[in-house]
Amino acid sequence: MSKSLPKITIAIDGFSSTGKSTVAKQLAKELGYVYVDTGAMYRAITFYALKNKLIDTNNFDKVGLINSLKRIFLQFRYNKELGFAEMFLNEKNIEKEIRSIEVSNFVSPVAAIPEVRKYLVEQQREMGKEKGVVMDGRDIGSVVFPDAELKIFLTADAKIRAERRLLEMQEKNQKADFETIYNNLMERDEIDSNRADSPLVKVKDAIVIDASYINKEEQFNKVLSLAHKAIIGHV
Ligand code: C5P
Repeated sequence: MSKSLPKITIAIDGFSSTGKSTVAKQLAKELGYVYVDTGAMYRAITFYALKNKLIDTNNFDKVGLINSLKRIFLQFRYNKELGFAEMFLNEKNIEKEIRSIEVSNFVSPVAAIPEVRKYLVEQQREMGKEKGVVMDGRDIGSVVFPDAELKIFLTADAKIRAERRLLEMQEKNQKADFETIYNNLMERDEIDSNRADSPLVKVKDAIVIDASYINKEEQFNKVLSLAHKAIIGHV
């Protein structure tokens, strides 16, 4: 697309493991936009909480975590070889650690804390303030950028999502089994959709894409065509 076209904000929200980050990353690359994986930010805070024993199966020291936020410095650093930005926590690359099933198991309760959300939403707005951004998450179209020119809501059958996630993890040699992944997706969807602060919702002006029976390429083509229309419509 011509560089003279105006840059817009693209919000991609939806349930866990619907392929949001894959499609968002690809779309940003195609448009020459910045990509922000907000889930990675919630995962990074969760990793910090686990490492500092602020959360485990029986306890959750919410006040301790809220007080620690000022010591949590997050950064995305672009890795040229991989072609995407990796998450750094206090200068340490934690990209691999934040994708573990352990982090997935604790991230939704952490993301339900209003102070955590406020801390991250401020940073997300800052990252997207120049537009030309594709941001994926749960509350991008509803809370972070309610004025985004294009809002997409991704959904897919839960069993299909779990199967895809399992394959992905196996390809990365990460420990996983279908049952654990499926239960985790169900639990996260439930907490994310029902929390009091910024729940996952499909906003009125979001375009729904059901990714159950389309492959990654078809999903990307749909999103790209919507992006082109939104950019042109914006002129
Ligand atoms: O996108 P991903 O699955 O990596 O997100 C992990 C978790 O982070 C979600 O299940 C949700 O609890 C939380 N999250 C959120 N708001 C966002 C992005 C992620 O609450 N914008």
